[in-house]
Amino acid sequence: MGAKRDYYEVLGVPRDATKDQIKDAYRKLALQYHPDRNKSPEAEEKFKEISEAYAVLSDDEKRSQYDLLGHTGFDQRYTTEDIFRGADFESIFGDIGFRFGDLFSFFFGDRFRERDFGERVIRGSDLAYELEITLEEVAKGVEKEITVPRIEKCTVCNGTGASPGTSPKKCSRCKGSGRIQNIRRNGFATFVHVTPCPTCGGKGTINESPCKNCRGTGLERKERRITVKIPPGIDEGYQLRLKGEGETPPNGGPPGDLYVQIQIAPHKYFKRDGDDLLFNLAVGFPQAALGAEVTVPTLDGGTLVKIRPGTQPGEIIRVRDKGMPRFRRYGRGDLLVRVDLTVPEKLTQRQRTLLEELAKEFNQPVGGKKSRLVF
Ligand SMILES: [Zn+2]
Ligand SMILES: [Zn+2]
Repeated sequence: MGAKRDYYEVLGVPRDATKDQIKDAYRKLALQYHPDRNKSPEAEEKFKEISEAYAVLSDDEKRSQYDLLGHTGFDQRYTTEDIFRGADFESIFGDIGFRFGDLFSFFFGDRFRERDFGERVIRGSDLAYELEITLEEVAKGVEKEITVPRIEKCTVCNGTGASPGTSPKKCSRCKGSGRIQNIRRNGFATFVHVTPCPTCGGKGTINESPCKNCRGTGLERKERRITVKIPPGIDEGYQLRLKGEGETPPNGGPPGDLYVQIQIAPHKYFKRDGDDLLFNLAVGFPQAALGAEVTVPTLDGGTLVKIRPGTQPGEIIRVRDKGMPRFRRYGRGDLLVRVDLTVPEKLTQRQRTLLEELAKEFNQPVGGKKSRLVF
């Protein structure tokens, strides 16, 4: 791609041009270079160039980004679609009588036109579903059946909106095109202004005997059961996208998507930290001081952990590969056992005697008024 020309230069406006100046400049150039009326080989490129410049400079946010970043920075941040999305060509093209959708399919292909411009094919709405699963289910992966209320094609009329055995009639006013053309002459120029047909509302057909089930909409609300496959190791808040499982739009567009958002129920033993699991292990002073072997829970049973003599409270013992499976990767995280010290709240007489003796041995005064810290 060759170096792009400066957008202001392309439209021939000063850098501090007002929105109206920009609009006027584009309108004049568009009249001059529209490929329908200018058959010179450069016209198409030229028209694309001025349209792009207009799309950026007529949008306050894009214009200030462009001023700040220049072509190189701006082009890194915005795709061609971003550049044209939301730009107001309608009012200008309405004024000068061009078909807007055709223009953009001409430049960018149908994909672009369908999504953003012209005679849009409207996609159905996306749906969101919050699904709570347990940590054990996360560890193994799981298939869940969920029930999603959504709008689907009417099953009685198969989405046509017409009673079975009948079909909508072609609109006589627009002869089925859904559009009315108004032709206007101005000097040498002929302007064709196209509006949706008011009789059929732009559909091109008139439904004389609407389906009773959907009252002619072609749609009905259903409770759809959908199986969701959840891969092992998924994270809290992760969204699984089920393409085409959202709502069906009117007028035959493609359905939206269903986003299943994963929530993980709190676990009675574990806290999750990425791929690792945290477990708090309560041990007594003798165990911490003398060392011990204890069994701690894991997601698939339990495992033996060695407490070394002299373990301090808060110390962490790492048990390799006993954490969560890594999401869409090989391997597992670790189990982190954090050692907590428990202090008994009640003592038997014998325990009291032994502890007092121990305290004396450690030279640590206990109880009563004479207690003081020894440094
Ligand atoms: Zn129906
Ligand atoms: Zn019509």
